[in-house]
Amino acid sequence: MRATGKYCKCCEEYKPLTEFHRNRKQPDGYQTYCIDCNKVYKKTGKFPFARQGSC
Ligand SMILES: [Zn+2]
Repeated sequence: MRATGKYCKCCEEYKPLTEFHRNRKQPDGYQTYCIDCNKVYKKTGKFPFARQGSC
């Protein structure tokens, strides 16, 4: 069965896959960070939750 959601590595929230852009380079076919985090990144140049240096 395919997963219907995943954890965003940035905000560490479990979100449905519709909240992620597709990315063929990723093993699961979706980007590591959710759309919300990507929006913030585009605006500010950095991800909203930069703890652990993971995003
Ligand atoms: Zn996120």
